[in-house]
Amino acid sequence: MRLKHLEMKLQRLRGFPAPRPVLEQYATPADVAARLLYHASIEDAIAGRQVLDLGCGTGVLACGAALLGAEGVVGIDVDIGALRTARSNAESLGIDLALLRGEVGAAFPLRPQTFDTVVMNPPFGAQRKHADRPFFDCALMAASVVYGIFNAGSLDFIEKYVKGRGEVTGVVEGSFVIPRTFAFHRKDRVEIPVEVLKIERTGRC
Ligand code: SAH
Repeated sequence: MRLKHLEMKLQRLRGFPAPRPVLEQYATPADVAARLLYHASIEDAIAGRQVLDLGCGTGVLACGAALLGAEGVVGIDVDIGALRTARSNAESLGIDLALLRGEVGAAFPLRPQTFDTVVMNPPFGAQRKHADRPFFDCALMAASVVYGIFNAGSLDFIEKYVKGRGEVTGVVEGSFVIPRTFAFHRKDRVEIPVEVLKIERTGRC
């Protein structure tokens, strides 16, 4: 599937019906999601692989991974409403996803190294300080390679945070165009610079 084709398919998916600010529920824009997945796919991390989407929200990354031929895709989110949206998005594409409710950071049953690849667009920690941290811990425990979307400028922090467990081995820059979503948003749309990072597991987690 070509990049543009993947982006068009993801573009049609539903967003969060009632986004919750405390969970930083912003659906990943289709262009950024498609780019992350396409990049991972070229690196042989999607087709035929077991893929985990942490904080799957509307399921855009999970659905895209399935469209690119992942053997199995599991999406985890703490919010039941988000999981319902992900389910309906997957159904609209005729895709089979395993969707689980669980809180990344709390003890939920995830056996170490059960997956090949993690894809994620975790909370950036803008609403709840350090909300992003358990996502790194969990991702590196779950798989040997992680593709994630982060605030631009997070690279130094992430490199330090995962030191001894993982290494950032790839960076692609991009931006999120976010329409007015929450009451505290002042503008009709904002553009947020982001970076897609590839993190490879190097040590024991
Ligand atoms: N990639 C998704 C969601 C991005 S928003 C999409 O594009 O739709 C971040 C998601 O993380 C939200 O769906 C939110 O509910 C979820 N989330 C936030 N904190 C979480 C936690 N501790 N455990 C599991 N999910 C969490």
